[in-house]
Amino acid sequence: MKQIALLGATGSIGRQTLEVLRLHKEEFALYAMAFGKNVAEAIPLIQEFNPTIVVVQDEITKEKLDREIEHSLILSGSGGLIEASVADSVDVVVNAVMGSIGLPATLKAIEAKKTIAIANKETLVTAGHLVMDAAERHGVKLLPVDSEHSAIYQALNGENPKDIHKLIITASGGSFRDKRREELEGVTVKDALNHPNWSMGAKITIDSASMMNKGLEVIEAHWLFDVPYDQIHVILHRESVIHSMVEFVDRSVMAQLGSPDMKVPIQYALTYPDRLDLTMTKQLELEEIATLHFEKMDMTRFPCLQMAYDAGRAGGSMTTVLNAANEEAVQMFLEDKISFLDIEKLIDKELSNHQRIHTPDLSTILSIDKMTRERVRSHLN
Ligand code: NDP
Ligand code: MG
Repeated sequence: MKQIALLGATGSIGRQTLEVLRLHKEEFALYAMAFGKNVAEAIPLIQEFNPTIVVVQDEITKEKLDREIEHSLILSGSGGLIEASVADSVDVVVNAVMGSIGLPATLKAIEAKKTIAIANKETLVTAGHLVMDAAERHGVKLLPVDSEHSAIYQALNGENPKDIHKLIITASGGSFRDKRREELEGVTVKDALNHPNWSMGAKITIDSASMMNKGLEVIEAHWLFDVPYDQIHVILHRESVIHSMVEFVDRSVMAQLGSPDMKVPIQYALTYPDRLDLTMTKQLELEEIATLHFEKMDMTRFPCLQMAYDAGRAGGSMTTVLNAANEEAVQMFLEDKISFLDIEKLIDKELSNHQRIHTPDLSTILSIDKMTRERVRSHLN
């Protein structure tokens, strides 16, 4: 039986991970879970799964939970996330928190030689070099949960990485894929949260609308698969049936297909290299779908994707700035404090003003992350 530490248990990926655990009770047990402040959502989950350790974001939330929960050890903050991730009994850490907050616990879990199922792409964007270097040094597997990266991982099964000619990442286009740039002027939070194919957390849904999600995924793919940016392509594919592809040097292309359901890549990361039934997922009925569409990505229509490529190619601390500015700007948009198009303007401004550091260490990354967020916030004054 695999013992799981699930960071971000109350979120979109977290709840779907728990659905997979419910389905395979003989295979998996929840040893630890972490969430932010959402006590009402968490209490029934704690009662159901009875984890040994529960981690919350802060002391106030811990006090609230202490009054309700008896049988679990309750911890808080970044230290709590680390303690839950490195606990002796834990086999797999599922990192499904939102944002670069997941970085320190990921690094410590790697040092403790835990297998990592990584949904938390911001961790790889902000510090991919540290994460991949640690994983190599400690011989730890990083199993992608993001559907595109899971597809590529599956397409690469048994292949020699030297034979990769290019990675082709598919993009659904997000909620504004049929709008021209001029039409983005007055769009609301509600419009942006209305994704055509996937139901996800708020931040990633906004990232999908701005195409920053695809930009973050390009950087994520660069680190996970060690492929240069010139060999990572993005194409628009409205149906989200092909989750991504690998073209090899002999021009043979491997694609992974399936219904758009995150439980598939979540479960694959938990069972790898094996597979288990996933009866709740809709089978792919290709006759029903009949036609698949592909379009070239328009980089002027989606400047956030171009910014991500540029930051990735520049390397070093540029992607830390890209990620931190984006996280803060998206949060400000969700709070109705800035417009949708302000998001890309604020990120662009931070990137233009940043003096790149070639190989930042963890403390440099955390301080750049913090300063970037503060500067982006200060635009409200
Ligand atoms: P959600 O916003 O739905 O969930 C985020 C989770 O993180 C919640 O459980 C939240 O708790 C928790 N959390 C937030 N801050 C903290 C903190 N300081 N300490 C501990 N826990 C915290 O996000 P998603 O599930 O959509 O996304 C999670 C990650 O997975 C992101 O990196 C995203 O890019 C990636 N991803 C998501 C996909 C999806 O389909 N949703 C697809 C591919 C990747 P609380 O509820 O209390 O706020
Ligand atoms: Mg994805």
